[in-house]
Amino acid sequence: MPIPFIDLQAQRARLGQPLEDAIVKVVRSGAYIMGPEIAEVEKQLGVFGQAPFVLSCGSGTEAIQLPLMAWGIGPGDAVFCPSFTFAATAEVMPLVGASPVFVDVLPGTYNLDPVKLDAAIEAIKAEGKLTPRAVIAVDLFGQPADYPAIAAVTKKHGLKLIADSAQGFGCTLNGQHPIHWADVTTTSFFPAKPLGCYGDGGAVLCKDERLHDLLVSLRVHGQAVKSDIAGKTFDHDPKYLNMRIGMNSRMDTIQAAVLLQKLTIFEDEIAARNLVADRYAAGLGDVVSVPKVIEGGVSVWAQYTIETEDRDGLVAHLKAAEIPSAVYYPIPIHRQEIYSRYPAPGGLPVTDAAADRVMSLPMHPYLTPDHQDQVIAAIRAFVKRNG
Ligand SMILES: *Cc1c(COP(=O)(O)O)cnc(C)c1O
Repeated sequence: MPIPFIDLQAQRARLGQPLEDAIVKVVRSGAYIMGPEIAEVEKQLGVFGQAPFVLSCGSGTEAIQLPLMAWGIGPGDAVFCPSFTFAATAEVMPLVGASPVFVDVLPGTYNLDPVKLDAAIEAIKAEGKLTPRAVIAVDLFGQPADYPAIAAVTKKHGLKLIADSAQGFGCTLNGQHPIHWADVTTTSFFPAKPLGCYGDGGAVLCKDERLHDLLVSLRVHGQAVKSDIAGKTFDHDPKYLNMRIGMNSRMDTIQAAVLLQKLTIFEDEIAARNLVADRYAAGLGDVVSVPKVIEGGVSVWAQYTIETEDRDGLVAHLKAAEIPSAVYYPIPIHRQEIYSRYPAPGGLPVTDAAADRVMSLPMHPYLTPDHQDQVIAAIRAFVKRNG
């Protein structure tokens, strides 16, 4: 049997009939949009993620775009983010008319460098062309960014902080979820993420009721919400009153039903991912550069990413042995043509170096020790042969 890079079928088999029953229940109910599972999954995500308010939405990309819209971030505004991430992190800025500003990451964790973040904000302020408004930290490959240090920088400059936890939902730092420091945490339920559904979906977690209310409105075409109609009377159903320009970013009820099932085993899967990561570290730590987790941090290991000099050689060697691997990310966003017009003050040397060296190994909660040993043995053989 080939080694899967991510094994969603093993998870599906584990969840069994109740998962399929939950989907069929929605199909039979007819409540395909905003059915009762939506409110229930928002509640459960809040319990899990230690956040009082949760908005489910259409995708992890829209989950980042919605708070930018709620804060009125647009033309002339700067939003700081890493370049070593999935394109969606930076794409939402142009979508609302704002400019991404790329900041370098720390070697080892690949997460935003708080010192370079502060310097980039100062540089943009000194230049005087863009107004700094927000920072998007990314929990890349599953591990928490350095939130205490990043939040100190955003506080100092009066900026909003978004935790893009699409890969890191469930990660903690000193026992706290990123929302402890961030204004909002966003996540994606794309199937391959640590907590995925069976299609597209996302969520925005926050601590501020007024912000949540605005997000509820923006999710459905700027519809009138609690705070818009409080104390007023209407001739028509205020449901069709549109107070602001929003979008359609509802999550399907079927996806909420899938997530409710997956949430029952999510803690257990995070523990299993950590055992797999420990086993890789023990088996590979002396031959390649293995990931470093921030002190006090627990990663959810969306990816297990190593670094080596001859990355392309090792990828080819594994492929010949029928072992899948992947490179996240071969071209950092600031070096993509369409994003090259946006500022990256001071350059991004750590990001540029990592892009040539990183590769990710098979990682999922159901990776067997036998399969893992095959991966480890193949890498050790390659390193031994090539000195
Ligand atoms: C996957 C991902 C997103 C986007 O999520 P979608 O649900 O695919 O829109 C955003 N940021 C990061 C870091 C991601 O990995």
